[in-house]
Amino acid sequence: MITRSDSQSHIPPVPAWQQALARAYTRPEALLKALGLEQTLCAAAHEGMQQFPFRVPRGFAARMRRGDPEDPLLRQVLPGAAEAQTRPGYVNDPVGDLPRMATPGLIHKYHGRALLIATGACAIHCRYCFRRHFPYAEAGLSARQLERAMAWLDADPSIREIILSGGDPLSLTDQRLTSLVEQLQKISHLRRLRLHSRSAITLPERITPELLALLEAWRGPVVLVVHVNHANELDNSVAAAMTALRRAGVTLLNQSVLLHGINDSVPALAELSESLADHGIQPYYLHLLDPVAGAAHFDVSEERARELMFQLRQCLPGYLVPTLAREIQGEPAKRVIGP
Ligand SMILES: *Cc1c(COP(=O)(O)O)cnc(C)c1O
Ligand code: SF4
Repeated sequence: MITRSDSQSHIPPVPAWQQALARAYTRPEALLKALGLEQTLCAAAHEGMQQFPFRVPRGFAARMRRGDPEDPLLRQVLPGAAEAQTRPGYVNDPVGDLPRMATPGLIHKYHGRALLIATGACAIHCRYCFRRHFPYAEAGLSARQLERAMAWLDADPSIREIILSGGDPLSLTDQRLTSLVEQLQKISHLRRLRLHSRSAITLPERITPELLALLEAWRGPVVLVVHVNHANELDNSVAAAMTALRRAGVTLLNQSVLLHGINDSVPALAELSESLADHGIQPYYLHLLDPVAGAAHFDVSEERARELMFQLRQCLPGYLVPTLAREIQGEPAKRVIGP
């Protein structure tokens, strides 16, 4: 006879991060209520959600200020009516990813490194996301597509670094990531493993002992590029996750997007760099907004961006000033705009 406990003992427990993800806010009404904000913002939010759904982990929402509709974390994730507006030059594939697919899901733009769209899923949905219209269903990785990507990587010894991106590669389970990284490990010319992940910040529970062991097992340098736009995103839960990653030998870098009304001031950018340093994270890129349809209201002009960088240089050590960059289709590297 199979008892209840017998039958359950074969089911692995659902990791805490997956439970947290399942509890994420997916309705603006619930988030606004938790923040003590007017439900009148909901109509605009629903208009904005038509192109790109709403999703915010509760732990990230807990870092927002209650009662402040202008909170810099809330503004990154709350949909608005402005997303439905079109503006010339703002398009669905602003950085030309689709024509640069070496195989479905594998983007090769720059010498020596290739970027794998490991999954289309993200723990959070940022309204300015340059991949908000990306056809993940077609470009994600089926088993067969993964096989093709591996064969392509294996055949090109000029590729020294594999970048796992998405979506967010840490949306994959530890089991799937392990299988992916083990396959990559077999390609001996891949020296560096890089991950681009915002989940490490928005869902720090994701940094599990299994993940740390997987990263430690890689043969060479491991780099995690996180994505933080405002100092308020960094709390004690993030600090613990970053400490664990550094102890596992992972180099931590940050990329931000310069966003109107969120971090486009000298105090906000200076405090972001200072706080990243406190968390052992090196500022890497500050990206000018990619002109993706629905995000024009976040744009900061290049002239204003240069002025901000000029002033930032005067209040931070050089190594805490990120590189201001813009991606221009067809160029052999991201274009450095400053400092
Ligand atoms: C941004 C990007 C990279 C990484 O560029 P780095 O300058 O090395 O950080 C690699 N591949 C693709 C497709 C990219 O968009
Ligand atoms: S975490 Fe990154 S990929 Fe995901 S929605 Fe935000 S910006 Fe886009």
